[in-house]
Amino acid sequence: MDAPLRNWAGNVAFGAADFEQPTSLAQLQDMVRRAGRVRVLGSGHSFSRIADTDGSLISLARLPRRIDIDSAGAKVRIDGGATYADLVPALHASGLALPNVASLPHITVAGAVSTATHGSGDGNKNLAASVSAIELVTASGEIVTLRRGDADFAGAVVGLGALGIISALTLDLVPDFTIRQNVYLGLDLAVLIENFDAVMGSAYSVSLFSQWQDDVIDQAWIKALTDGQTPPDTFWGARAAEGPMHPIPGMNGGDCTGQMGIEGPWHERLFHFPIGHKASAGAELQSEFFVARADAPAALRALRAVRQDFAQALLAAEIRSVAADDLWLSSAYGRDSIGFHFTWRPEWERTIVAIGVVEAALAAFDFRPHWAKVFVTPWPVVRERYPMLGAFRGLAARFDPHGKFRNPMLDQVLA
Ligand SMILES: Cc1cc2nc3c(=O)[nH]c(=O)nc-3n(C[C@H](O)[C@H](O)[C@H](O)COP(=O)(O)OP(=O)(O)OC[C@H]3O[C@@H](n4cnc5c(N)ncnc54)[C@H](O)[C@@H]3O)c2cc1C
Repeated sequence: MDAPLRNWAGNVAFGAADFEQPTSLAQLQDMVRRAGRVRVLGSGHSFSRIADTDGSLISLARLPRRIDIDSAGAKVRIDGGATYADLVPALHASGLALPNVASLPHITVAGAVSTATHGSGDGNKNLAASVSAIELVTASGEIVTLRRGDADFAGAVVGLGALGIISALTLDLVPDFTIRQNVYLGLDLAVLIENFDAVMGSAYSVSLFSQWQDDVIDQAWIKALTDGQTPPDTFWGARAAEGPMHPIPGMNGGDCTGQMGIEGPWHERLFHFPIGHKASAGAELQSEFFVARADAPAALRALRAVRQDFAQALLAAEIRSVAADDLWLSSAYGRDSIGFHFTWRPEWERTIVAIGVVEAALAAFDFRPHWAKVFVTPWPVVRERYPMLGAFRGLAARFDPHGKFRNPMLDQVLA
């Protein structure tokens, strides 16, 4: 390749020898069969080097888009290149929905599932938990289908791309629903710490944004199932915003999904940013660390104690809840979790110091770093945070005995 391909944030220049875009499943199988080393690039929204390879980088964007909705069975089967933006309008038009989504719709479903991408909500698991079947092009070019209940299924779904290329996914659906989104400003951090469960459990999905400049949560985004009630003017002492807000101060709230309590379909409220939002590249870096939910108040106190040592590097931070699941490499494996997310200024040297400060503050809470974001946690520590990693190692060796899907990051995960 002439110029290296880069990820969305521009911080990763892929080391791939070539970039291929198959237009059929047969072509994809053939490419995998022939390849020495191979990885898939979804929409490139990961900040870690998880998608990197020195072999072939393959995009599935030109595969025929498949969105086969089974309304009676409340399921959808999609191809491995489909994005949430491709999928969700079709679901809504069929009277169906996903229980939850991430902050933006531009990412591929396969890429999101592979890294345990999540939204928020005490009752909402991460997005991979909706998968009921996964179809993989394995190292030999064969297609293997794993269904929920199969022995390897719980290991394969959050697979970090280590087992093969996801050619199709089947997702469980729920009936279409409506949400209203209200933003409240100035939630006292001490009030949050004292009432953490009540605050996070106050609506279907709660996201708390802060720049950590003061002992305050700047914005509480409350995404509530509509119930015919008028939303309150205050939320735990925070006041209702008077206009649409953006999580990053100074940016246009009109670029976000509808707020001000106006009822709308699930997919026009649960994403923070709408389908039409154009952010094809981003001047930011991200990190995220998951702690057991019960530890969240103490983790908040620990972050508060060092906030002056990391706040200067921040654009915004977000707190979200994720329900426990049984997917081996999920950041919420076996424990209800709280994700402490940080959107950093794209200034590597300052940011990497700030990440170290945050990791040190959270070290006592056995955090798991988001696979797709930036972290400096030593690999032996990362590995010990996943009780099923040994089993996953065995699964990866079985599916990919010659390391065709390995890259330096996976070598560390699987060491
Ligand atoms: C602006 C922004 C907002 C974000 N918001 C959230 C959020 O709300 N919640 C959250 O949890 N994360 C969030 N993320 C992180 C993002 O969800 C993950 O990086 C996700 O993996 C991106 O999907 P992608 O399609 O870009 O995958 P990529 O970054 O392209 O790939 C991710 C991994 O999946 C693998 N992969 C992709 N497709 C396939 C396939 N078909 N078969 C096998 N492996 C595959 C890749 O090889 C790679 O290992 C955000 C990132 C950005 C830039």
